[in-house]
Amino acid sequence: MDKTQGEKLKENLFDSKKIGWENLTDEKIRSIFNFNNEYISFLNACKTERECALFSEKLLKEKGFVNIEDKKSLKPGDKVYYVNRKKAVYAAVIGSAMLEEGLNLVGAHIDSPRLDLKPNPLYEDGNLALFKTHYYGGIKKYQWTAIPLIIKGVIAKSDGEIINVNIGEDKDDPIFTITDLLPHLSNKQEKKTLGNGVAGEDLNVLVGSIPYEDEKVSEKIKLNILNILNNKYGITEKDFISAELELVPAFEARSLGFDESMVAAYGQDDRSCAYTTLRALVDLNKPVRTCVALLADKEEIGSVGNTGMYSANFEVFIAKILDKAGQNGFNVLEKTLCNSKMLSSDVTSAADPTYADVDDSLNAAYLGKGISLCKYTGHGGKGGANDASAEFVAKVRSILDKNNLVYQMSDMGKVDEGGGGTIAYILANKGIDVIDCGVPVLSMHAPYEVTSKFDIYNAYEVYKVFYAD
Ligand code: MN
Ligand code: MN
Repeated sequence: MDKTQGEKLKENLFDSKKIGWENLTDEKIRSIFNFNNEYISFLNACKTERECALFSEKLLKEKGFVNIEDKKSLKPGDKVYYVNRKKAVYAAVIGSAMLEEGLNLVGAHIDSPRLDLKPNPLYEDGNLALFKTHYYGGIKKYQWTAIPLIIKGVIAKSDGEIINVNIGEDKDDPIFTITDLLPHLSNKQEKKTLGNGVAGEDLNVLVGSIPYEDEKVSEKIKLNILNILNNKYGITEKDFISAELELVPAFEARSLGFDESMVAAYGQDDRSCAYTTLRALVDLNKPVRTCVALLADKEEIGSVGNTGMYSANFEVFIAKILDKAGQNGFNVLEKTLCNSKMLSSDVTSAADPTYADVDDSLNAAYLGKGISLCKYTGHGGKGGANDASAEFVAKVRSILDKNNLVYQMSDMGKVDEGGGGTIAYILANKGIDVIDCGVPVLSMHAPYEVTSKFDIYNAYEVYKVFYAD
C-alpha cells in the first residue's frame, strides 16, 4: 500500500530513534556477543583501579605499546603508554599529522564506588571481629549490606615491601559481609529515610568469630584474626595504616535476561567505557591525528589527587610525546590541547520504567539505543557542566552518521531532579573540545549494574571511528 503524504512527511522530518538490536545481520549479532564475552572476562578480572591499570598495561604491551620512558624518539605509527602510580593509564598512537594540529582523545575512569577500610579498621564487639569502612564515591548505603564482599588491594610495609591482598575471588576463599537488621526488629529503622536507614558508621564488615585460646588475654577474637593475618601476610595491626584495602562485591559479571542481551556486573561505571576505549585504541591502524586513551582514577570523588584527571601527569605525558616527536617549542603543548577533540567516555543513567518519573522521557537515554551523547552534565542550571558547542556536537554527529552508527542524545534526569559530572569539564578547561559520550547504565553505582550488550559494542565502534577521524 502506498504511504500517505503525512506518513512520508513524518518519515522525513521526525528523528526516528531506533532500537539498536533491530535489523542486525547474524554476523553483527555474533560480533556483539563475542565482544561482550571478552568484556565480561575483563570485568571479572578487574574490580579495582589497580587491577584495571595492570590489565590495561598487559594488553597494551601485547599490542605493541611501549612504556614512553623507554622511547628515545617518536615517529608516526609508534605506540606508547604511561602508568601513573599503578592507578591511571594514558596511552597514545602517534599519527602522521603534526601534533599541534590536535589530538583525538577518548577518556574514561577506572575507579568505581566501593568501601575502603579505615586506617584503623579492626575491632572486636559482641563476640565478633569487624572492620570499620569508609565508603568511596556516591553509594546508597543500604545496598551494600547483606551481600557477599571480597577484599582487594595492597598493604605497603614501612620496609618497602608491597603485599597484594585478594581474598574472596577464589571459590575456596572465604567472603565477607555487612549485616543488616532483620525485618522483625526493624520498626525504628524502617521509619528512617532510605538515605539514613543505614549510616556510614554502620557499614561494618564481619570478619571473624573464633577466640584465641588464652585465658589471660582480652579481645581474643581480634587477636585470633590478627594472628591469622600475621601468619598469612606477615603483618601486624599497625600495617593497616599504610594499606589500601577495598571491599567490592563478590558478584560475578554475567549475561542478563532470557535473551542474554544485557550484562549485569559490578563496576560498569565506568569500566564499560574504559574497556571499550582501550579496545578502540589498541585496534587502531595508522591514524592521521595522534590518538590518546585516558583511563583516570578518582573520578568518583571529584577527579582530584595525583592519579585523578586534574593531575599534572596528563600534561607531562603529552609534553613528553611532543618532546620525543621533536615537536616541542613555545606554547606547543597549549596549542596542541586547544586544537584537540575528545569524547569523555563515561556512562550515563539509563531510563528505568519503574522510576520513570525522574526522567524527561524526551531527553532520557534508553538501554539498547546505543551510546548516549550528553552535551552537558552538571546540576540545576547546568552548574559545573562542560557545555559542548553546537559546532562540536555537529562534528561528532557527522562522524557517527557517516559511519552509520546508532547513538542517542540525552540529559541526565529532569532538570531539578539531581545531576552528575564526569571528567569532561577538566579537559574542556584546557581548551579541548569535549562531549560526554558513554554507555547507558541501569542501577548505576549499585553493587550490581546493568548495561546492554548492544550499547557496549556500539561504544567500541563509536570510539574507533572517532579516533580514526
Ligand atoms: Mn562514571
Ligand atoms: Mn560514577
